Amino acid sequence: MPRSLAVARLWLEVNSFSPVPTVLADFAATEWADGEAALAPFRGSPTELGAVAAFADSHPDWEVVVLRCGAAQPGGPMDDALFDSFLAEVKAGLAGRRWDAVYLSLHGALATERRRTPDLDIVTMVRETVGAVPIGASFDMHANLPPRIVELVDVAAGYKTLPHVDMDAVAAKVLRLLVDTVEGRIRPCGVLARPGRILHSHNMRTSDGPMRELEEIARDLCRPPILDVTPFGGFPYADTPFTGSSVMVYADGDRGAAATVAAAMADAVRQRAPQFAVSRPGPEEGIAQALAVAGTGPVAVVEAGDNTYSGGIGDTPELFRALLRMPEPVPSVFAFFHDPDMVARARAAGVGAVIEGTLGGRVTADFGPPVPIRGEVRRLTDGVFVNKGPMMRGVEVRMGPSAVLRVGHVDVIVSALRFPVNDLAYMELHGIDLAQVRLLAVKAKNHFRGAYGPVCRAFVEVDTPGPAGIDLARMPYRFAPMGDIG
Ligand SMILES: [Zn+2]
Repeated sequence: MPRSLAVARLWLEVNSFSPVPTVLADFAATEWADGEAALAPFRGSPTELGAVAAFADSHPDWEVVVLRCGAAQPGGPMDDALFDSFLAEVKAGLAGRRWDAVYLSLHGALATERRRTPDLDIVTMVRETVGAVPIGASFDMHANLPPRIVELVDVAAGYKTLPHVDMDAVAAKVLRLLVDTVEGRIRPCGVLARPGRILHSHNMRTSDGPMRELEEIARDLCRPPILDVTPFGGFPYADTPFTGSSVMVYADGDRGAAATVAAAMADAVRQRAPQFAVSRPGPEEGIAQALAVAGTGPVAVVEAGDNTYSGGIGDTPELFRALLRMPEPVPSVFAFFHDPDMVARARAAGVGAVIEGTLGGRVTADFGPPVPIRGEVRRLTDGVFVNKGPMMRGVEVRMGPSAVLRVGHVDVIVSALRFPVNDLAYMELHGIDLAQVRLLAVKAKNHFRGAYGPVCRAFVEVDTPGPAGIDLARMPYRFAPMGDIG
């Protein structure tokens, strides 16, 4: 009789400070499937489901049953009803038959509005449903993990590269250890140590810097009876009681050995914690630095704390406020505010009309109150342009209706959808001649630099309050261990 493996997956990195929830449509746009339909798109790819497909193809003695698998782009807290339905669906899929093993692909930085530890809730449900059946799990390097997880999971491991290029290797290792467990060759036992540090991810690359050193130490420590050593960086913007770094160690039958290695690894994390710290100037100081850059062409003033790709909401006001208060105004652009109502009002008023109201602080005032404005409608667009590249060159983009308002010396782009500034055609659409612009203030981080690098004299990143703000002590945490910051 073949052995049977059940597989389920829920992979989402949550920014708890985004007031925009992650809903079914967000998963549907990326991954929400089961059975062969879940595996087919990933067969041969360096992903967890790619590893599951390879396992199924190379293990004819195992029946692999793929239950619900979901993944979405980073965003706000997962909708609670959707999470509950995921839990119920996987429980129903597991119940009522005998399994030899269960493999879970989790992110580890999941959060919902209501639950404190949703990843742990998944593992707990699976353990309660399958009893003593061996469970294996894999996690993202940015997982925020509670110690109890290793008591519920027989064997687990996390990514050891950033960018994450070893998702398939980690999943394959967990599956191999799971088979070894089922067939009685190993008796894994796990220890999870928490160094008590919430780390920034800016310096978490594994090509160089402190995370590379930690991965090298982990590799050295991983010899029999140790089965796996994973240092987790954690994700500071997912607000849970276990936000922050952790170290997970599994050993074969020797909990003491696992505990010794975990303690040594946690020490190594604590020693290097200061190297993960980043600091950036505030908006006024950043603007002053940008104005001091010599030469021609715009200087980009980059507000990463509201970057769309980090869970940003196109709504935080403090860089814009500082721009309006500049002592010596220079021609400036601000991109962008997400404000469908203001776009509608600008369209109703027409080009040349002057309108009053507020910008920013619309979705939430947590990151600063709205900025009162009086502005002339300079341009209205249908939001359609063709990317100039390099990223997605030639692809037509529909970013929704938008408007340019001139407020003092600042041309402000206001859009009906939340759309990132990645391409130079975005500025052309809005009639902005960058050669005439001195300061280009933008809500962005890394992708923006691909197209704008060649046309900007310099980039000055500033620290402002936002869902992905640099100053963690200012974030509106509700659950995280605040003493672990900095
Ligand atoms: Zn990650």
